[in-house]
Amino acid sequence: MSSWKCGKCGYVLKAEKPPEKCPSCGEKCEFLDNSCYTPDCQQEGTDKRV
Ligand SMILES: [Zn+2]
Repeated sequence: MSSWKCGKCGYVLKAEKPPEKCPSCGEKCEFLDNSCYTPDCQQEGTDKRV
């Protein structure tokens, strides 16, 4: 399970894959992989833009 953050409104959700549409702003946003920014993950983030 990965964590995804909406690049537009900052909404964060956990899912295997990013959703087609953001449940928060209702638009087709760019979702950034936020999963390695959780405290239990020691790895470097996969996406520097988060
Ligand atoms: Zn959004």
